Amino acid sequence: MPAKTVNDIVALCKRRGFIFTGSEIYGGLGGAYDYGPYGVELMKNIRNAWWNSMIYSRDDIEGLDAALISNRLLWKYSGHEAGFSDPLVECKKCGTRMRQDKMKDASKCDNCGSTDITEPRAYQLMMGLSIGATADGAVNAYLRPETATTTYTNFKNVLDAKPHKLPFGIAQIGKAFRNEISPRGFVFRMREFEQAEMQYFVNPSDDEVQHKMWMDARMSWWINELGIPAEKLRFMPHEKLAHYAKAAVDIEYEFPDGFDEVEGIHNRQDFDLGSHTKAQGDFKINATVLENKDSTTKLSYSDPQSGQNFLPYVIETAMGVNRAMLAVMIQAYEEEDLGDGKTRTVLKLKPSLSPVKAAVIPLARNVPELLNISNDIVATLRKMAVGRIELENSGNIGKNYRRHDEIGTPVCITVDHQTMEDGTVTLRHRDTMAQERVAIADVPSRVLEIING
Ligand code: ATP
Repeated sequence: MPAKTVNDIVALCKRRGFIFTGSEIYGGLGGAYDYGPYGVELMKNIRNAWWNSMIYSRDDIEGLDAALISNRLLWKYSGHEAGFSDPLVECKKCGTRMRQDKMKDASKCDNCGSTDITEPRAYQLMMGLSIGATADGAVNAYLRPETATTTYTNFKNVLDAKPHKLPFGIAQIGKAFRNEISPRGFVFRMREFEQAEMQYFVNPSDDEVQHKMWMDARMSWWINELGIPAEKLRFMPHEKLAHYAKAAVDIEYEFPDGFDEVEGIHNRQDFDLGSHTKAQGDFKINATVLENKDSTTKLSYSDPQSGQNFLPYVIETAMGVNRAMLAVMIQAYEEEDLGDGKTRTVLKLKPSLSPVKAAVIPLARNVPELLNISNDIVATLRKMAVGRIELENSGNIGKNYRRHDEIGTPVCITVDHQTMEDGTVTLRHRDTMAQERVAIADVPSRVLEIING
């Protein structure tokens, strides 16, 4: 059974060093979190799983890592400066501020139930910056609220540097910032978070086929690479489409409080390239875009066969990496009853995602013979470069097993007195707690088998 409440995960994250409250020693800062020793590993493994599937296992997608701060004009023409806002309402009785579109009941305060609520007003979600020596500190740039826009503005750069035929994509992983009205749900809704987004440029006549293809591909990734069972995931089409979208579908995961969005897969037609291109009049732009007299570059594609020059459509896949990590932890979390009033908490992560791949544990602390053998095993395993390998020289085997169960280490290797006699060690499996005796020489191959699933 996965975690029953997000609070189980919050407690585990703090106790075992996955996630801490940002600015904690000064009372915290809403919507900002710091990732600790095991959190950074889990995030990295999720990013790698995404990058592997998007870049390393295909020929048609290129990587990009654009700046977090950008010229204000990007956000003018993307429509964010004028339109990236949420409807903010305030309860006149208790003062709670809420996003009207996320309220349980739009006519009642989520906090106190009062129906005395203000009219909604638009609330700018982008975080403004004052860059350089501006005398008055006026906003002259923004922290990006998504990675996608900088992908569109680099469309021509990437295509010129690495020519591709349609369809092809550009993928980015990186931070995004949104001045969310009410950050909530631990790392579910933050003000600083991370996105993994891919923009796939397609022939307009091919858009629906490609949208469906990406919906299927992304759903399989959640199931096969993150280990989330299919029945805990679903597609949720948007009821109301944004003006630029031709189709929009979310992947939702069943969190303890119900299904909620973890990724969006959208058909944005020619809105983005049409918004940022120079010479808009040269193209038949289907979406409604702002007139652009500032862009210096045509963001079009020339078809080598037909010779036609046009604006491709965009199919976008947009995932929140922090939300993915939260879903993965909730799903992997189990509290097992071991009988006799004993329980254990275990994180049954896919080994490819585990922050620590294997722990080597001398049975007694600071016994030179045990420690030397343990260090040799650690060194051998580290040479395999499969991720983090830890040495546990605390002498408390029970405590070590509990710790590694809770952080999801797939296998522990225990070196004991018998090791010195016959050169074997105990391999203890996280999920079953089964133990097997293995010759030291066979440890690397056996560990590889276990962590490769
Ligand atoms: P929501 O409706 O939850 O505000 P969105 O539809 O605005 O999200 P997108 O702009 O499509 O989200 O962003 C893509 C993904 O980025 C989302 O599916 C989500 O996983 C993640 N994401 C968006 N906003 C946040 C946030 N404030 N904190 C953490 N992750 C976020």
